[in-house]
Amino acid sequence: MADTLIIFIDSLRYDQAAEMDFLGRMPERCPVRPGFGYSVNIHAELFAGYRPDEVGYFCEWMVNPKESPGHRWCRLLPLLDVIFRPYVLNRGLQRLLTRGYRPDHIMPNIPLRHLDKFAVAGEHILSSRFPRPTLFSEHPGLQVLPYRGIAPKGSRDEAVSRRALAALAEHSQLFVPLPDLDGIGHNHGVGSWEHEEHLARLDRWVAELAREFRHRYPAGHLFVVSDHGMVNVKGGIRLDIEECCGRSGLHSYLCFSDATLLRVWVYDEALRQPLTEFLSSLSRGHLLASEERRHYGLTNPAFGDFIMVLEEGYCFEPSTFARHIPKAMHGYHPRLPSQWGIFAHDGPPLDGSSPQEMVQVYPLLRDALRE
Ligand SMILES: [Zn+2]
Repeated sequence: MADTLIIFIDSLRYDQAAEMDFLGRMPERCPVRPGFGYSVNIHAELFAGYRPDEVGYFCEWMVNPKESPGHRWCRLLPLLDVIFRPYVLNRGLQRLLTRGYRPDHIMPNIPLRHLDKFAVAGEHILSSRFPRPTLFSEHPGLQVLPYRGIAPKGSRDEAVSRRALAALAEHSQLFVPLPDLDGIGHNHGVGSWEHEEHLARLDRWVAELAREFRHRYPAGHLFVVSDHGMVNVKGGIRLDIEECCGRSGLHSYLCFSDATLLRVWVYDEALRQPLTEFLSSLSRGHLLASEERRHYGLTNPAFGDFIMVLEEGYCFEPSTFARHIPKAMHGYHPRLPSQWGIFAHDGPPLDGSSPQEMVQVYPLLRDALRE
């Protein structure tokens, strides 16, 4: 049980961390490529070592009519969708019909007529529903500081850092999640005054925690990790797939666009060719080839017959996840430097080389905790 402090900063870009006073001087630091997708998948890579194929889901929502929030009303939904056509009404009724469905997840922008097709599949790494062993379930001695409900968004990092400083007196294995940078990036953009200011504050809090940890545990491991980067959004892409390939449904095809990603499931084989042509013709989209799907652990056909990722800086608008585009986004192709997170370490030498991909971070954290 080695003394270990793990600081997790949501959405901290490697290139920005490298320029920070404290973080940029940590003795070992390197960029880490996330896998495809968003937090539910990247946290499974980072804190459990599983790619989507191994954890069984890709993105938060997947096709699953029986478990969907609209299953009970499946016959009524097409009619309701016509009656409640204006967006505000559609959204209002959607909220009413999905009340109580998985309150731990944000209800995305699924139109009424598709409310009986998709269900939550991806689970938060700290949830008891997470399907595999994790760093946290395997190391009950690792004290995890909570961040939910302790302060308003934007002020949680400061509150967590303060609690972490005090907790170090009692806990020699501590996990400190700092979640605020993600929302600040989405709302204000990378390079904005708010984002820059928060980066500077984060650097000071991390330096303070590192000092306190070293003072109490001189031979311990200090890690600073992030899940992905972030990049400013230049524009929205309207997905006119139904104009070109016909109406979507369980007898034709389904699609779900999560901001930067598009997944398409084909149910009518006759549509495979037109869908392939349509998707290949989208100028700002990149269709994942089977080789890429193998590399990133996305071979499960339940993840979609097609998976597409948009060019850096573009988001679907509207998407099945949100009506409007944010100022900045992540979830682009992992090979882009703007998407890289950071791995930084200070302490006794680690077994194993510097991680290049997110799944390679997990064994380093695990082994340090076990020492
Ligand atoms: Zn985010």
